[in-house]
Amino acid sequence: MFRLNLRLNLGSLVPPAPADPAEPNWPPYGPLINARLATIEVIRINGGDSPTPALAKAIETFARHIPGKVEQVEGERAQVDADANGRVTRTQVNAIIARRRHRRACDVAILLTPGLSDTPNSYCADIPDGGHAIVINPVPGPVPRPGRRLARRALDEIAGWSFMLCVRYPTRRRMLLAHELLHALKVPHRRERSATGHHCTRPDCILYPGVDWRSALAGLFNLGPPLDLCRACREEIASARAAAGGVYFEPNDAYDPMVHLDGMVRLNPHSALERIYRGQARAERNDRAGAIADFTDALRLGPGAHTAKCRFNRAGLHAQDRRWAEAIADYEAALAADPAHRRALENVTWILRECPDEAFRDAAKAQELGVRAERLAGQQPPALR
Ligand SMILES: [Zn+2]
Ligand SMILES: [Zn+2]
Repeated sequence: MFRLNLRLNLGSLVPPAPADPAEPNWPPYGPLINARLATIEVIRINGGDSPTPALAKAIETFARHIPGKVEQVEGERAQVDADANGRVTRTQVNAIIARRRHRRACDVAILLTPGLSDTPNSYCADIPDGGHAIVINPVPGPVPRPGRRLARRALDEIAGWSFMLCVRYPTRRRMLLAHELLHALKVPHRRERSATGHHCTRPDCILYPGVDWRSALAGLFNLGPPLDLCRACREEIASARAAAGGVYFEPNDAYDPMVHLDGMVRLNPHSALERIYRGQARAERNDRAGAIADFTDALRLGPGAHTAKCRFNRAGLHAQDRRWAEAIADYEAALAADPAHRRALENVTWILRECPDEAFRDAAKAQELGVRAERLAGQQPPALR
């Protein structure tokens, strides 16, 4: 108990890392934070494993933050072709994720891989059809940290080596598993507390992004590395749960992933990016009016960087509803922002050449743009055509 108190108090004295102002706010993930039952399906790819009891302990940590029951089930073992080093690709992993048995919003799949050849680290992915997938890469690549001063880099290097020397392998795997699992809860939810990649700025938190002088100092004070969420993250979960008013999320409750995107737009009223994400999701669901409203808002909120993308997307939606004048204007604006936008060029050429409404055809202009499109295609390597 004494040690537990030390863990809770002293590590939190280390100052947090600076927050990343580019991080969005996002809502904590209701289906898990209020889950009556969360099922964790463990899928082993090519015999991918985890040292015992790392997995059990990580799931135990996760279960502490779920009000209902957490059940672990063995998924079907998967066997795929690996490269010469025994590693698999993200595309292969995605195909296995699609076959998982437990796919409700409150369920999580853990995929234990022998290694990933095209992804440097482990990750937690939101699955559009429900829930989350945690993909574990036991041979992570180096994390580039550009722009740090030499002295800071040396200090972090020492911290990294002491971490490897002082923390046993099963504990490191337990930390990795718990880190990815707890990402699914979507804390921290405020950008003032978020480091890059939606991590926690508190070095005494399992969601701290890596090992550096801050985490080493917090580890020293706490007599060990963080194995759970920091107090601030736990408080965020408690208030999200209080806001739900004690209502559980039942395993078969319908959950619309749009709820999360709506929440992101609501929590980031001045940001264009969340509107673009929601616009794309709305477009996929054929909610064209909603998507057009999102892309229009995004253009207003973030002119410049997103212009070509928003105009191109909006043009396609106008074209689907045969608003040819609006579609042509948007394609032209996309091309003005990005003259090398080949698909915008091809689509507007098609309208000018073949538009069902003859009033919008313009053979001369179509000819001119068609030549431009061909020239552009010729400049690009064959793989991109
Ligand atoms: Zn992470
Ligand atoms: Zn935290």
